[in-house]
Amino acid sequence: MISSNLPERLIVESPKRIGVLGGTFDPIHLGHLAAAGEVAGVLSLDRVFVVPTAGHPLKDGSEEASAEDRLAMASLAVSGDPLLQVSRVDVDRGIPTHTIDTLTDLGAETPGAEWFFITGADALARLDEWQEASRLRDLATFVGVTRPGYEWSGPIEGVTLVEVPGFDLSSTDVRRRVRTGQPFRYLVPGSVADYIEEHHLYRGGSDG
Ligand code: NAP
Repeated sequence: MISSNLPERLIVESPKRIGVLGGTFDPIHLGHLAAAGEVAGVLSLDRVFVVPTAGHPLKDGSEEASAEDRLAMASLAVSGDPLLQVSRVDVDRGIPTHTIDTLTDLGAETPGAEWFFITGADALARLDEWQEASRLRDLATFVGVTRPGYEWSGPIEGVTLVEVPGFDLSSTDVRRRVRTGQPFRYLVPGSVADYIEEHHLYRGGSDG
């Protein structure tokens, strides 16, 4: 039997290292999940919040599924994985989504954490145009995930790149496949494929 008469100890916990996987997730696919897992492993993250946007600040709202559908699919995709957790902060704040607000809201919910904002390297190529770009770099480390063989157009200050094995998928391709009746089921988690079919998502539209 283990004795419980241990001296009281001062337990000093190191700050949690938390990833924020930002994106439209229209829909979330296996490449996004592979990216979250790879970055969490490489950077020793304790948790990754998956945060669907309300809308895109540099685009005109061209996503096809509603925010609630995109959130529902993200929740199905991470179900049962203790590393990943979906956050509604961006959807609840509403359009437009600015990452400065995402990080401020999540920081208020979990003070004292060290933050890593993870998204596609393509999106981070324009980081200098984001609202409060210099303050953003104080709030988080920015991590751009890339497909194998990706040609990075040049170093962007404060951005770390992580290559994700097998990440050769895109939401655009998933939507196009659904719309044209091509196979898509094994590009997304099975529960997400079921949701797309049951809710008749991506049947219309005009991607590429
Ligand atoms: P996007 O133009 O939809 O995506 C750009 C590229 O990055 C696409 O190839 C996309 O592939 C990929 N991508 C997006 N999210 C990804 C993820 N989490 N993991 C891996 N690849 C990903 O860009 P976006 O999704 O709208 O923006 C990404 C994030 O940056 C969002 O959180 C957004 O709020 C933030 N952002 C902020 C500002 C600002 O604060 N002013 C400006 C721009 C973007 P898929 O289509 O396959 O996902």
